[in-house]
Amino acid sequence: MELSEKNLFLFDIDGTVSIGEKFIPGGHELLDYIKNTGKKYIFITNNSTRGTKSYIDKFRRMGLETDGMNFVTAATASLRYLSERYKGKKIYTVGTKSFIDELRAGGMIITEKFESGIDCVLVGFDNELTYRKIENACRILSESEADFLATNPDLVCPAPFGFVPDCGSICRMITEAVGREPVFLGKPERLIIDICLEISGCSADETVIVGDRLYTDILSGIKSGIDTAAVLTGETDRQEISRSEYKPNYIFDSVKDILESIRVN
Ligand SMILES: [Mg+2]
Repeated sequence: MELSEKNLFLFDIDGTVSIGEKFIPGGHELLDYIKNTGKKYIFITNNSTRGTKSYIDKFRRMGLETDGMNFVTAATASLRYLSERYKGKKIYTVGTKSFIDELRAGGMIITEKFESGIDCVLVGFDNELTYRKIENACRILSESEADFLATNPDLVCPAPFGFVPDCGSICRMITEAVGREPVFLGKPERLIIDICLEISGCSADETVIVGDRLYTDILSGIKSGIDTAAVLTGETDRQEISRSEYKPNYIFDSVKDILESIRVN
């Protein structure tokens, strides 16, 4: 299906439609165009530091009205995965208060202390991280058979001055210490994409994933059999794309060019 015929647009947020609290030029217009032409968009983000409500608030401050149906986060995907496999089990979580609240609201048993009988260690992007949390995770993973899960493999997250360490980097500290690798749940795994198809009722063929990162956004499309469009406003550039094994179907300088290419005159 041609890009202009797609009915569901799955957008990465950071580096794709916005940077910090500012739209990348054309971002707001593209989202309006999609909505006004009866198509759908969902933001898919590996950022687990905040819940859906705080994203709705962020976009409202940026002048865009969204609702809960417009977001699927790595926290949503993690909750889905945990509900299916760890119901009634004890999960030690390295994550923000908002992430832990969301998991608890979803019925999961979360502990933030070292204690016995922990079935799983879950690491998110935690910008409230302390050394004690890392130490506890290492101890649990060393002394028991607890599973090791993490929301997303991203090593860094864009910040106004450059980058800060993301979940993948936090996991590397633990992996270096205990010699165990986590199973990641967010992009590029297809779980988060499958949730989007399910809630939108759209097929893989009528969907496109738009993002700035090859090893998460673009790879998630490749793993799910969904077309992808890379934008060059974030992490990647044409040189990296030409060297990478993860090739997008489309390359655009920015979301503004996507709008120009799909707009029916
Ligand atoms: Mg991004």
